[in-house]
Amino acid sequence: MKPTFKLFRIAGITIGIHYTWIFALIFFSWTLAMVYFPAGYPDWSTATYWIAGIGGALLIFISVLLHELAHSLVAKTRGIPVHSITLFILGGVSNLDEEPQKPAAEFAMAIVGPVTSLVLGGILYGLTYLPIDTTTPQFAILGYLAIINIYLGIFNLLPGFPMDGGRVLRSIIWGSTNDLTKATNIAGIVGQFFGWAFIGLGVFLMISVSFINGMWIAFIGWFLNSSADASRKEVALRERLSHVKVRELMHQNIATIEPETTVQDMVTNIFRKQHGRAVPVCRNGKLVGIATITDVKKVPPDKWAATPVKKIMTSEPLYTVAPEDNLNKALMLIAKNDINQVIISDQGKCGGLISRADIVSLIQMNTKLGLR
Ligand SMILES: [Zn+2]
Repeated sequence: MKPTFKLFRIAGITIGIHYTWIFALIFFSWTLAMVYFPAGYPDWSTATYWIAGIGGALLIFISVLLHELAHSLVAKTRGIPVHSITLFILGGVSNLDEEPQKPAAEFAMAIVGPVTSLVLGGILYGLTYLPIDTTTPQFAILGYLAIINIYLGIFNLLPGFPMDGGRVLRSIIWGSTNDLTKATNIAGIVGQFFGWAFIGLGVFLMISVSFINGMWIAFIGWFLNSSADASRKEVALRERLSHVKVRELMHQNIATIEPETTVQDMVTNIFRKQHGRAVPVCRNGKLVGIATITDVKKVPPDKWAATPVKKIMTSEPLYTVAPEDNLNKALMLIAKNDINQVIISDQGKCGGLISRADIVSLIQMNTKLGLR
């Protein structure tokens, strides 16, 4: 999840907010100012309720941020690059460049978030026992934050994927069976169970106690359910693709072009005739770059005939796979770098391309044929 607005950086990690976060800020400020604080502290002024409400809501997000920072910093010490943390309507998410490759790394990364929240909640709760005036907004916010952090810790420890507890469960099953697909499936099923349970609880609360709180819980349940389902499907897909070699999807007649070819010739002979979006650029059979439709758009059409392809092509970074690599590797490169295709290169020799669309049509064809 990419942040809509970037705020600042901590330890090389961009901290940002997703636009949906604004709705959560309004919801929490409103609930605190209009419901929670007036119930416990009837003597404050309206302005005090709102200042405490907005302040409390912002501090909830600082709590969520600290939870996510714990995940991200442990990920970094395990060698996994983290480019950003995004706060959104349902909490926070650390955007990692890759998934942990070892069960122990996943375990450490997952458990540290809830532990941070529980420790923080415990410390804040301890502070409420200090001899301070218990009728002030500061005390009310302190007590509220202690509870929120403890909830945050406990909620995230529920053992269903994609919650932290689900990741902990997955890492334990993964470590003991050495089977990531099976581990994701089990943790995902437990995650879907909790998703349905939250939806049920939410609907019950909507009709019996509080419509808005019930709706919130049902919404969280729906989110958990669909994330668990998507994670299971994604891991199953990766597993399937890891059994197919890039070579099996390679075209027999590969179109390539020379760097001196004009953009006009490339558009006429390659993009129009072959319906491709990209073509490898080769000199004497050696790979030197890739030219795509996006590159063509950098030059106005009246300059195409006078512009050689080498002027517009990308020569680095070039993302390549070997014919003997599996499709999962190709798909990971495509997804991670947000590109449409990778180049197939056999020890630096010009090979061909494999695109997102090629992989999708393979999956669709297998589904039609009733193959796994
Ligand atoms: Zn977490």
